[in-house]
Amino acid sequence: MNMRLFYKFLVPALTLAAFTVATKTAKDDKPAEPPKTKPAKSSKNTDNCIFNQNEISPKDMDGLKIVADTNFVGGISHHFDNESVQKLKKRIHKPDSLLEFKSPIENKPNIYLEPFGYFFANRPNGDKKRPHMGLDIYVSPYSRKPKDPVLIQAPVDGVVISHKRAREKDNVIGNCVILLGRDGRKYAFDHMARPTDYSDSIPMPTVGTIMKAGDPVGYVGATGETTMWHLHLTVMTDEAKAAQENSKYWRTLASQAGYSALRGQVNPLDKKEAGPIADCLKEYRGGKLNLKGDFKLEE
Ligand SMILES: [Zn+2]
Repeated sequence: MNMRLFYKFLVPALTLAAFTVATKTAKDDKPAEPPKTKPAKSSKNTDNCIFNQNEISPKDMDGLKIVADTNFVGGISHHFDNESVQKLKKRIHKPDSLLEFKSPIENKPNIYLEPFGYFFANRPNGDKKRPHMGLDIYVSPYSRKPKDPVLIQAPVDGVVISHKRAREKDNVIGNCVILLGRDGRKYAFDHMARPTDYSDSIPMPTVGTIMKAGDPVGYVGATGETTMWHLHLTVMTDEAKAAQENSKYWRTLASQAGYSALRGQVNPLDKKEAGPIADCLKEYRGGKLNLKGDFKLEE
């Protein structure tokens, strides 16, 4: 017999047969045993948990729940529920010092921050009840549509916990992806381009997609409440969220704004809260703008 054939077909077949017999015997001779589970992961392996594949596999989805939020203004959002996010956070967390951080925008000329792109500044229309939360990163002169798409990239290893596809008449964030970083912070990328905006569009990462720092998230766009092509970047922490929920000032703000003012947003330029991404964003600062990143909670 051809030995290659022997190993290819006969050996697996014999092994399976032997396994079947063994299982049957065991089953017949002994009282039913609970099904064998895979060996518990050693603590040494937890560092790589769920980071060996591009999407969370069905076995890792145990206890995690994705919900579709059709009531979300202006589109459909799919996201892990809060409990799942907390579970994921525990599983993937790693201190800042052990992680690589990258700029959320691929390096291109003509990237800059606008004065009203400053976190917590008032909007250009002077609407003080809805302060501008987050940081606007502009990628083209006069914020026109860039001829070539500008890539948004994961600033740190993490997992996509939310994605939103906007309707045409979305009046808020437009197409959006939220990444839970291994640093425990959440990064939201708002106003992302539509698939039809560029001929070589890249698919929006779905909930559960695992990313390495620098992986493509999408292209800078102008969907949602804007006519200007830019990335509205939001950085959120659980600590800031807890502080805001205990703050009368923030609670009032949230009720006035009627939107996501209470999601734990921090100033992406504030290294103390936003972490190393603040350094990655430094290269965009400049010109006449004062971007010190001052921000503190007020009562
Ligand atoms: Zn913005």
